[in-house]
Amino acid sequence: MTDAPLIVGAGPTGLAAALFLSRRGIASRIIDSAAGPVTTSRALGVNPRTLAILKGTGVEDEITAEGLPISTFHLHSNRKSVARVEIPYKAIGAEQPMHVLPQARTEALLTRALAERGIEVERGKALTALSQDETGVTVTAGGETIRASILLGADGAHSATRHALNIAFPGDAMDADWRLMDVELTGPDPDAAWIDFREDGPFVALPFNNRLWRLIGFGEPLQNRIPQGWTTGKVEWISDFHVSNRLAERMNVGRVCLAGDAAHIHSPIGGRGMNLGIEDAFIWAHCAEAYLKGDAGKLAVFGDNRHAVDALVVQHVKRLTATVSATGAAATLVRRLTIPLLAGFMSPRVAVARMMLGLDHPLVLP
Ligand SMILES: Cc1cc2nc3c(=O)[nH]c(=O)nc-3n(C[C@H](O)[C@H](O)[C@H](O)COP(=O)(O)OP(=O)(O)OC[C@H]3O[C@@H](n4cnc5c(N)ncnc54)[C@H](O)[C@@H]3O)c2cc1C
Repeated sequence: MTDAPLIVGAGPTGLAAALFLSRRGIASRIIDSAAGPVTTSRALGVNPRTLAILKGTGVEDEITAEGLPISTFHLHSNRKSVARVEIPYKAIGAEQPMHVLPQARTEALLTRALAERGIEVERGKALTALSQDETGVTVTAGGETIRASILLGADGAHSATRHALNIAFPGDAMDADWRLMDVELTGPDPDAAWIDFREDGPFVALPFNNRLWRLIGFGEPLQNRIPQGWTTGKVEWISDFHVSNRLAERMNVGRVCLAGDAAHIHSPIGGRGMNLGIEDAFIWAHCAEAYLKGDAGKLAVFGDNRHAVDALVVQHVKRLTATVSATGAAATLVRRLTIPLLAGFMSPRVAVARMMLGLDHPLVLP
């Protein structure tokens, strides 16, 4: 009997990979080092590309039923309203707008869908060693030796799989201290995202249920940057972080592939991280099935295909982050003059919308 594929990491990428593989009739094992699921909100935007690839799993319907659709962006420059922009999602081929749902909920829905297919996450099993030969992969995890036909490393930014394969993770880091807060808030229009391009850095507020907002900015603490007239209540989560842009040098070695944060990390501006990982998982499941059916080159095809796509997205996110986060009087003046102008035209709105909705590259099964 052939060994089952092994997925290392039960974040959104690994869970989606196991689900997509199961829909192709292939049962995998999925292990995670953590004792239980992570409960913090983290990625909030589920984009239309992700909703499209989750179609038919049941998870898409649950996300759209539970999540908050957002297609209006209220843009400001140094605290002054400059434009209210509708994202023309239908005009660019999306069936749905972006839906805002805390990552912990998206993971819970994926986990439940997997359990309904008879696959349970094996928790408390950290991959510590990996080797491969002509017939499979051997892993040490949580004191157990696991033999697998193929392996997907979806074990996050500090991926033990990537380290075991000696794959470099080149890139750069931004100096700024980014700040994030989930807080009860009243004041802004609850149906629109609020973006203020300030001279000292951006201030973003995104509603994610009737009560809570995600605030993002950098530099000064977010509490000091809240606009006049807004009222804050309980702070649910606060986190400071640094932004790095990194892409693994390759995403495949033999029977082992990388996906999600294990292969690429970038700023949260544009909301791509989790979505890009789920897309990697979708393409991997397609290639993994073909490989297991005898197409020996298919995992290398996955590696080459996704490396090119993920490089493009990391570049797009880096460019958007630089534009959004440029500080100083000159950048503010340029934005104040250009945003209302650009917002009035369809083509710039479409270009930014494509990027934010995950539609800046076609979804083609290689
Ligand atoms: C504070 C914060 C805010 C964020 N905000 C956003 C946002 O607004 N929008 C956005 O798109 N993205 C955001 N992200 C990024 C987003 O959370 C990630 O892109 C996403 O979680 C990547 O999913 P993943 O499954 O690839 O990796 P992860 O979610 O990191 O999952 C990896 C899993 O692997 C497990 N693991 C690790 N090592 C091992 C090992 N050795 N063996 C077995 N298992 C292992 C971990 O326990 C974890 O469960 C944010 C992240 C953080 C931390």
